[in-house]
Amino acid sequence: MQPPEIAFGADLLALTPRGAMLWGHAMISSSRTSRSPRGAEGAWAAGLSLLGFALAALSPAPAGAARTGRATIPIAIRVADPQAPVVDSAWIEEQLRWANRVFEPTGLSFEAIPSEPLPAGYRRLRSRRDRDRLERHHRGGVVNCFVVQRMHDLSDPSELRRGVHWHPIGPRDKHYLILTTLGPRTTLAHELGHYFGNRAHSQVPGNIMSYAHGREPRFDPRQIERVRTTARALLVGGRLFTLGGLERLRRRLASRRGRVASLEAGRARRAGARRDAR
Ligand SMILES: [Zn+2]
Repeated sequence: MQPPEIAFGADLLALTPRGAMLWGHAMISSSRTSRSPRGAEGAWAAGLSLLGFALAALSPAPAGAARTGRATIPIAIRVADPQAPVVDSAWIEEQLRWANRVFEPTGLSFEAIPSEPLPAGYRRLRSRRDRDRLERHHRGGVVNCFVVQRMHDLSDPSELRRGVHWHPIGPRDKHYLILTTLGPRTTLAHELGHYFGNRAHSQVPGNIMSYAHGREPRFDPRQIERVRTTARALLVGGRLFTLGGLERLRRRLASRRGRVASLEAGRARRAGARRDAR
C-alpha cells in the first residue's frame, strides 16, 4: 500500500530559526541541570549549545525542501538505573517494534537515540513530585520516555500504573512518557497515542487507546488524523525534530563550530604575528 501523503514539513522545519533556537536552549538547560556524570554526548551538547543560537540567525531552508509522507521521530529512552537497569534492550526493542507497527498507518515511526540511564533515585515513583522531577532530564526536540520499575497511582497509592503521558507543573513545552516494567509490550504505543493528541481513552476493545488493547491493537481513522495533525504542529513549531532533521542540524552545528574555531585560530595567528613584528 502507498504510504499516506502527509506534509510534515520535516526538512523545512529542521533548520528554522525557532527550531534551532529551542534546540540550543534545551541543550543548555539540560547540561546545566543534569546531575548525572556527563558523557561524551553531554560534553558535545555543552560545547555546541551556544552555536545553536548562532545558527538561529541563519535563514530557514529554502521553500519547497523535500516533504515526505513519512517521518521518523527520535525518541530518547532513559532507563533507571545505571547499576541495575530495570529493563534490558530486548524489552525496549519490543516496545519500539510494537509502537512502529501500531503507528504504521499514521506515517510516523520511532527510532531510539543514544541516551544516558536515569539515576537510581527514579526506580520507584510515588508522588506527583517524583514524576515532575523527571523534567530535569527532558531533552528538547525529541520524544522523551523514561522507564522506571514502579509508579504508584496518585489517587490510590496501593494501585500501580503501567505508564503515563505526563505534563509536569511549569514548562508548557515539556511533556514526556513514563513506562514501568508492568506494562504490556504495547504500552509505549498507547502512551505515544496520548502524546500525539489522543487524550481520551477508547471504549472499543482492540483499539490501542482502550485499556483492552487485544492482540493486534490499532488506531481508528479519527485517531490517525489526530496523530498526524499533532505531529505536524509539533514539527512545524520546532518542538520536535525528525531523525533526519536532528542529524542535519548536528552536522550544521559541527561545521559551524569548525568555521568558528578556524576563524579564532587565524585571529590568534595574526595577533601573534603582530606581536612578533613589534
Ligand atoms: Zn492511557
